[in-house]
Amino acid sequence: MEVEEKEPHEEEFTEAMIDGVRWQWSWEDGKPGSPTPLCPECGIKMDFQDAYAPNVYPPKASVRCPKGCETANEWEGWSKDGLRDLIEREVKRCIREDEWESNSETPHLQLFSS
Ligand SMILES: [Zn+2]
Repeated sequence: MEVEEKEPHEEEFTEAMIDGVRWQWSWEDGKPGSPTPLCPECGIKMDFQDAYAPNVYPPKASVRCPKGCETANEWEGWSKDGLRDLIEREVKRCIREDEWESNSETPHLQLFSS
């Protein structure tokens, strides 16, 4: 009797390391909704904010651990909402291009080539 191969379900893909930060999301209507940054060192939800006031140019999204771990990052030229949208697209791209399989290690993604 053949063992059925389990197809990867994209709904199982709910976490990735993106630009050095752990991001988690839940699937809503086929979209990885509202990605949330978690501290890769202590696991707590990070502060995610627009470092500049809204409508001030250029925008800068930033994440920072409220417990003061070293991990922090900034995305200059991106608002918080813009960055969230970009992460949603990157997650979809990752699935479309088969860079993710269930049971595999948490993928490490880079939004911008440095
Ligand atoms: Zn931390």
